[in-house]
Amino acid sequence: MKEKCGLVAVYSYSGKAVMPMIMNSLRALQHRGQESWGVAAPNYPPYKKLGLVAEYNYDFVHVNKSIVTPVGIGHVRYSTIGTSDFRNVQPIQIGNEFLIAHNGTITNSYELEKALGHEFATPTWVSDTHLVGLRLLQLLRQTGYDWFRSFELLSKEVVGAYCFVILTNKGEVYAIRDDRGFRPLCIGRHRDTDSMIIASESCALSILGADLERDVNPGEIIKMSKDGIESYVFSQQSRHAHCAFEYTYFAHPVTYIEGRSVYLARKNVGRELAKRYHPDGDIVIPVPDSARPAALGFYEESGIPFEEGLLKDRYGRKGGLRSFIQPSMEERLAVTRMILPLIEAVRGQDIVVVDDSIVRGISSKQMVRYLKNAGAKKISFLSTFPPITYPCYAGIDFPTKKDLVAYQAGNGSKSIEDINKGVADIIQTDLVGYNDVKGLCDGIGLPESELCISCVTGDYKCFKKMPHLDERKLKK
Ligand code: SF4
Repeated sequence: MKEKCGLVAVYSYSGKAVMPMIMNSLRALQHRGQESWGVAAPNYPPYKKLGLVAEYNYDFVHVNKSIVTPVGIGHVRYSTIGTSDFRNVQPIQIGNEFLIAHNGTITNSYELEKALGHEFATPTWVSDTHLVGLRLLQLLRQTGYDWFRSFELLSKEVVGAYCFVILTNKGEVYAIRDDRGFRPLCIGRHRDTDSMIIASESCALSILGADLERDVNPGEIIKMSKDGIESYVFSQQSRHAHCAFEYTYFAHPVTYIEGRSVYLARKNVGRELAKRYHPDGDIVIPVPDSARPAALGFYEESGIPFEEGLLKDRYGRKGGLRSFIQPSMEERLAVTRMILPLIEAVRGQDIVVVDDSIVRGISSKQMVRYLKNAGAKKISFLSTFPPITYPCYAGIDFPTKKDLVAYQAGNGSKSIEDINKGVADIIQTDLVGYNDVKGLCDGIGLPESELCISCVTGDYKCFKKMPHLDERKLKK
């Protein structure tokens, strides 16, 4: 199960009802998962729904009125393997002891299942998050409910990327980030309600008017309880592996990850791209929405005027959906069909299109077709993320190698010239240019040794064990 999701946990030390804060934070994290959502509080059954967070105001009002609690957790989900099975909507109840929510990918579910033995039944629909929860429960029973020790043991067994938030039946919250820090997790304070908030991204704090205090460190567990906040380090690694794709595509531009502004990182990778490619261009335009800061950065470096040449529908229900994280090709195409060319901006122009990435190439080809139909003269298509030619085992749903356009185009070749030319042929444009690894790292402002770029390099050394996806789960 690949879970590219958003997490939130709120603990109010003044006893204020926190469910409205959780719901609003989940709305701010909606870009991380658009398939389902759920919230949980002690002594209430979890409330879960398919679709967008409180799509109908009824849900928002109902949840806030019916779940009155000073502590709770929430989750938005984007799963890409199997169906959006309602039984896997999170948070997931584990025994009578706790509820768990997860962001990441656990790649060795088979081994976890083996470790469970016969103590728990694990039907085929059970997700990897559920398996981790069951194994944690088993370890808790073995260690006399020593939570920190149990996490420490669990972390040695689990392969992959994870952030968890856990709510116990006693109303305590645990938040855990894996020791490489693949996925983001941060902690903040809401002064008006004397609440501590843990969330996947700082945008979930900003929407509440809360202050970002810091990132949860890789290998750290934070406990929030009536006794205050405790921190425990279960593993310290000198090599971190923050996902570079969070900076260029996934995270919200207002978010800060590892002290770096996602917005500025995007602008800077756009600048780096402009240092590497000097195509003919009357205007530079972004593929909306995530590439907009990068196109601005490209304009600032190159001097080619910035224009809005492609507009995403902002009025219909699909306007807020992200094509890349839709669960099927039909749904992805339905979202990209809601992007329209602005004829007056593009007709008769040489255009530089900046996108955050070119993964399958299908939506890029569609954008090129729209622009040509609208009368564009020459189209150069540039990607801020280098060519993706390997799978991701840490929480992003890249297709298999054969569906990755850079892999197809290069025919296995690593030469950037071959890849650029091959992708240009496939998406039927005049020129394609990808950023390189140095441009990406310099733009983000972190050294390569702090980032994960395995999907570009094929080097998975930043994982503690060579990851492999559980084939049985893939076929589910
Ligand atoms: S493999 Fe690529 S998408 Fe996956 S975590 Fe690493 S950088 Fe991010």
